Amino acid sequence: MMDKIQIAIDGPASAGKSTVAKLVAKQMNYVYCDTGAMYRAVTWAALQKGIALDDDVALGQLLEKITISFQAAKPEQKVFVDQSEVTKEIRMPEVTNNVSLVAAQPSVRAYLTTKQQEIAQAGGIVMDGRDIGTTVLPNAQVKIFLVASVKQRALRRYKENQQKGINTPLDVLEDEIAKRDYKDSHREVSPLVKAKDAILLDTTSLTIEQVVEEITKIIKNKIEIM
Ligand code: C5P
Repeated sequence: MMDKIQIAIDGPASAGKSTVAKLVAKQMNYVYCDTGAMYRAVTWAALQKGIALDDDVALGQLLEKITISFQAAKPEQKVFVDQSEVTKEIRMPEVTNNVSLVAAQPSVRAYLTTKQQEIAQAGGIVMDGRDIGTTVLPNAQVKIFLVASVKQRALRRYKENQQKGINTPLDVLEDEIAKRDYKDSHREVSPLVKAKDAILLDTTSLTIEQVVEEITKIIKNKIEIM
């Protein structure tokens, strides 16, 4: 019986990474780790404390003082900063529109990368983010890079938001997503880029089920030849 592997799922904002990663993890009985939630939690904490979001040193110090944790729950896993539950707060527009700036700071990336590597060490993990295949888990046995058109991604986010009672207009969402992608792709440390050995999957015209099926196939093929 082979060991449990590491699966990295990267791609731009709202490409369906977390939905798909959760389902793949469930099927494999693996742990799911949402690294975007960690960057969002730091952003939330910095906003709370009034720390300048581009202050690399202050953000590094903040990270030494707070603990970001996940707790399994239905329908979705809960996110905490120390004792405060921030599951909903970290999805609010104020966090979403500021997270790329915080995520560009080297001290934040160094700290969270180490944390993520610790979480993934034992294998049996599906981790989603922007730099998992390139930086966090360069030796992951399966690497997927999910893409979809900006229009399609904005529409998906719009529908998700409606259910949560967030009413940002579609064109504003499209603009926000494009801006976040630009910032994430152009930062100096670990920019969003497809790892050379990642498999590109365009989900624009695929359903969630089809994407999960495709990834499951890729995993099975990989495990067979190991
Ligand atoms: O995945 P999600 O959209 O929640 O990620 C929020 C933000 O966190 C991204 O726009 C990016 O700036 C940052 N991020 C990152 N590296 C990761 C995951 C997320 O820089 N591995």
